[in-house]
Amino acid sequence: MTAAILKVDLSALTQNWLALNAMSGAETGAVVKANAYGLDAASVSKALAAVGARCFFVAVASEGETIRASVGPDAHIMVFGGHMAGDAELLDAHKLTPILNSVDQMIRHFERLPNHPFGIQLDSGMNRLGLEPAEWAAIKDVALSKNPDFIMSHLSCADDPSHPMNEWQLNHFRAMTDDLEIDRSLAATGGILLGSDYHFNLTRPGIGIYGGLPYEDAQPVVQLEAKVIQSREIVANEPVGYGNSWIAPRPCRIATVAIGYADGVLRSLSSKGNFYFERIPCPIVGRISMDLVTVDISNLETIPETLSLLCDEQTIDDVAAMAGTIGYEILTAFGSRYERLIEI
Ligand SMILES: *Cc1c(COP(=O)(O)O)cnc(C)c1O
Repeated sequence: MTAAILKVDLSALTQNWLALNAMSGAETGAVVKANAYGLDAASVSKALAAVGARCFFVAVASEGETIRASVGPDAHIMVFGGHMAGDAELLDAHKLTPILNSVDQMIRHFERLPNHPFGIQLDSGMNRLGLEPAEWAAIKDVALSKNPDFIMSHLSCADDPSHPMNEWQLNHFRAMTDDLEIDRSLAATGGILLGSDYHFNLTRPGIGIYGGLPYEDAQPVVQLEAKVIQSREIVANEPVGYGNSWIAPRPCRIATVAIGYADGVLRSLSSKGNFYFERIPCPIVGRISMDLVTVDISNLETIPETLSLLCDEQTIDDVAAMAGTIGYEILTAFGSRYERLIEI
């Protein structure tokens, strides 16, 4: 078995959720879209339900089925993408609550699933999803007469607490909703950290549960280890990997590791990132291939059986910084080839 091993520490994960819950001063949901950010939606949502989470969010209706099977019949499962054509059966079968984003979605929902719960998303400035203020003003009375469960919006700059966009969006959201007696939701992880003005009735943390920034105090949740398939000694000036992009500056020992960009080790880490053996960094040399990475292990005294990409020495955000991206992309890039070891 050469598949890499992704270890998911569910107790760190649930502690992160509990800590965010303690900060929230509101009902705290859990965003489990994209297979719970790559970590395995079934086990993640089950563990969160066991510590008290009752509101789960997915991106599209098809993600809801797995969650429903894990969290039981009573939890709420909300769909950010709303009610798209063809979704009615799934929404109905798994009791999913679409968050309606447009007038078209409202018409579709009231026609196809009258009396089925729904939420509403308003655009407070991000210009991604949700009704614009003018649309909301026009449709508000009809929409409210159908008893939405809650109204939400999303912050575009909440990872930067000093960004003026945060307060700007908060004011716009409040202007559209302050006169209503209805539950509201604005904050994802970043919004929770901005403080109680942003919390309203329901928060929607994702990345913080999974151990990533902007939640600096999060406990790390994932470890990633891959197996060394082969190693070799090379002399100075020999090339390694596709395109001869790396040339040995001196004699080196190279390990070939069974993991690649198909597993989410982003190709931009070529000749940049490190793997670790215990505490010792071992540089990635040459291009990352689909299934393999070559690593300079000249600093090690032995040839290790495995090397780690995510470990105590290197978090998802460290890897993200080297790859020029964010922790979210590192997590969600994990493929299906891993052996996922879920630790309780
Ligand atoms: C993904 C998402 C979240 C979770 O955001 P994090 O930054 O991961 O906490 C919350 N709300 C919406 C609308 C989202 O799309």
